[in-house]
Amino acid sequence: MTETKPSRFDVVIVGAGAAGLTAAVMLGRSKQRILVVSLPRRRNSSALAVRNVPYADGLPPDEIYAKMELDAAGAGVEFCWDEVTSVQAGDDEVTVATRGNGTFVAARLLLATGRRDEIPHWLPDGVWGRTVFECPYCHTFENSGKTFAVVGRTDNTTWLARLAQVHAGRMTVLVGDPQVLQQPDRARDLLVADGAEVFADEVTSAVVGPAGELRLATKAGREVVVDVVLLAEVAQPDQRFTGMLGLDLMDNGHPRIDTYGRTSHPRVYSAGNALGSPHYMWTGAASSGLNAAKSIWEDVMTK
Ligand SMILES: Cc1cc2nc3c(=O)[nH]c(=O)nc-3n(C[C@H](O)[C@H](O)[C@H](O)COP(=O)(O)OP(=O)(O)OC[C@H]3O[C@@H](n4cnc5c(N)ncnc54)[C@H](O)[C@@H]3O)c2cc1C
Repeated sequence: MTETKPSRFDVVIVGAGAAGLTAAVMLGRSKQRILVVSLPRRRNSSALAVRNVPYADGLPPDEIYAKMELDAAGAGVEFCWDEVTSVQAGDDEVTVATRGNGTFVAARLLLATGRRDEIPHWLPDGVWGRTVFECPYCHTFENSGKTFAVVGRTDNTTWLARLAQVHAGRMTVLVGDPQVLQQPDRARDLLVADGAEVFADEVTSAVVGPAGELRLATKAGREVVVDVVLLAEVAQPDQRFTGMLGLDLMDNGHPRIDTYGRTSHPRVYSAGNALGSPHYMWTGAASSGLNAAKSIWEDVMTK
């Protein structure tokens, strides 16, 4: 029996979000044979509209992705909508295995799988991206004047709450680790000075009330009723593939990259949001995709 040879590309991009699609368009326009392999769900897929994205403010996320996919296809980019289950990188080529569409081989790999959201077990269905968020900039303006709770474990919680406080009609902050509230914390001082209630407690369950409000039950037996919840520490590095590839990681678990997305493996690039990176939110992820595409193209043409 003859074995089918895997399809071969110049670059396989894993992840069709802001970073991956931006890179795909640029590399397709450079006349490379590009394959994007991705699941269709992006981090912001549950939101009704995107905010802080130039020319697209207020558009549904799916509309933006559909346009970007069209642009990429117009530049010759091919798509495979499937889950990537493993990746390998050798000296000469990279191999990407999918759940249902076999294996692809390429000269280079761009990892653009986004961050992994660790949604707390107590969050009711249907609220993530609608009344529960993780970002102080994305959907807070639209909720100005409403009651907010910010929930987290560390001093990221008071930091996030302080950044969002300008929008909150009333602000309640629940910090899971009581030790954090023993430490000096400028954000907490400013929150309290501007009327926020900050206490050490954990949410144990939550329900959506009849008017869409969130009723949070806490370990200490309180009920906190708010319109909007912000969660600190939700977004985590996605380490499924960085481990398989043996990439150097930073202390925060994201791959160590240069400004242009080059990792410790010469055939592997990485783009998207990362803790401490200047590529923040959707537009930042897109810009990191552009940077990675630039370095891939320069490497293709010069190495
Ligand atoms: C609820 C919510 C609302 C948001 N709203 C906004 C907003 O209004 N404005 C803003 O600027 N930012 C917003 N953000 C942040 C924004 O979504 C991210 O900055 C952006 O999506 C990051 O782009 P990315 O390309 O790195 O990752 P993503 O957009 O998450 O794309 C990663 C892609 O990789 C795919 N993938 C992952 N693993 C695999 C695998 N194993 N196999 C195949 N495919 C895989 C995913 O399915 C996805 O398609 C929001 C985030 C959340 C959580």
